[in-house]
Amino acid sequence: MSQEMFMKAAVDLALDNVVTNRGGPFGAVIVKNGQIIAVGRNQVVANIDPSAHAEMQAIRAACRYLNSHELKDCEVYSSCEPCPMCLGAIYWSRLKAVYYACTNRDAAQIGFDDLFIYKQLALPMDKRSIPMKRIVPSNTYMPFNAWIHKTNKKNY
Ligand SMILES: [Zn+2]
Repeated sequence: MSQEMFMKAAVDLALDNVVTNRGGPFGAVIVKNGQIIAVGRNQVVANIDPSAHAEMQAIRAACRYLNSHELKDCEVYSSCEPCPMCLGAIYWSRLKAVYYACTNRDAAQIGFDDLFIYKQLALPMDKRSIPMKRIVPSNTYMPFNAWIHKTNKKNY
């Protein structure tokens, strides 16, 4: 399959999601060695889960399929430019490339304003719309210290 065919598959998932009333107009596929190993569709409302974006669903499915938390040799094709949450998961899962069709500006025009979050991230913490404040109780560093001294940990 060509890159265009992989992208077409992601877009077809997005369209099917709308037509079948399953969720928002977003789909994603994950490809390894020239084959689709996982698909994802937006299921935010269906699953009552704000993290159930197409890319997140595809990443979860690919990780289950490969029985690994890393997708180093995989690429994601998304029907739309990933939002900051999905981009974070893309980095954490070590995907090697991201391809997208619609842009986040296209998404903002139909009411899915990921661009807003990208703009928020660029602001200083005290200028963001959601307040974020550091609180430091006495046990703050106990988990990190426990991790440092743990001898049977699996690094990731
Ligand atoms: Zn997302």
